[in-house]
Amino acid sequence: MNRILVVGGAGYIGSHMVQHLLASGHDVVVVDNLTTGYRDAVVGGELVQMDIGDAAALHNLFAGHRFDAVLHFASFIQVGESVAQPGKYYANNLAATLTLLQAMMQAGVKRFIFSSTAAVYGEPSYVPIDEAHTKRPINPYGRSKWMVEQVLEDFDQAFGLKSVCLRYFNAAGADPAGRLGERHEPETHLIPLILQAASGRRKAVTVFGRDYATPDGTCVRDYIHVSDLVEAHARALKYLEQGGKSAAFNLGNGSGFSVQEVIGTAQRVTGRAIEVVDAPRRPGDPPRLVADATIARKVLGWKPLYPELETILAHAWAWELQWPWGNR
Ligand code: UDP
Repeated sequence: MNRILVVGGAGYIGSHMVQHLLASGHDVVVVDNLTTGYRDAVVGGELVQMDIGDAAALHNLFAGHRFDAVLHFASFIQVGESVAQPGKYYANNLAATLTLLQAMMQAGVKRFIFSSTAAVYGEPSYVPIDEAHTKRPINPYGRSKWMVEQVLEDFDQAFGLKSVCLRYFNAAGADPAGRLGERHEPETHLIPLILQAASGRRKAVTVFGRDYATPDGTCVRDYIHVSDLVEAHARALKYLEQGGKSAAFNLGNGSGFSVQEVIGTAQRVTGRAIEVVDAPRRPGDPPRLVADATIARKVLGWKPLYPELETILAHAWAWELQWPWGNR
């Protein structure tokens, strides 16, 4: 049995990870400052409410527990906000992560799995994007993630820290059993916004731009089920345990759906009419982002269980229908 520290375990992907680790018999400690996470999303293990920017608190945590690995999900994720408030992103996503890594090195914890993003690539020069694609992030969010990836290389060199960076494309969906799902406040992601328009919690969904060089003019993205992301982390953990060297893997299905296609599919899955409002492009949105995840499939033996957009939407819809989620 492994003892795993899940940083950001009260958030969307982290909470699904905790559930998976507990179900496979791991001992789990969650660290979360609960600024964007929810206490009731932590389905088990020990929850320590603290900030990873707090070196003294981290020191105490590592003094009191022995961890085999750290999984880090705690970051700010809104691209637009990162442009308006870059300091907030560099302080949390970069500086606090560095504090965490230093505490890990002091405690001798040498395995780390990091939630990275397709945003490290910036405007793609080819699609599907593989890991060798140039990294030229175009906003502070993407830059903060890419900087951490580079710090991790240096920590491997200097201290032997073995890390796996998982570059998520568009995380979506919800726990198939319906216990967990996505709840961002404010919500900025396409799928939950569409489903809120379907359920009536929101009047309409806005389409940001219909003049892209794509078949229907709307942006194309690679949506990947949260359970499949979590499974990739479990496999990355095993990979490091078996002596795997530091690596970065793309996580996506390799198929792209346009904003308009997602809305159309959501209409079918929910059986509800969804009102659409057109708006100009959102700054910084590349027309098409699709993953080449061949390396994750090969090296980790990873194969998404829920690649169909219908399934991703159906699970997210079952979760939306449970709103309000509080006091569970
Ligand atoms: N999008 C949209 N309306 C919204 C939110 C998003 O048209 O209310 C589009 C956005 O421009 C992008 C795609 O949906 O092309 C996915 O956006 P999201 O914010 O979910 O994820 P991102 O691709 O930014 O990681």
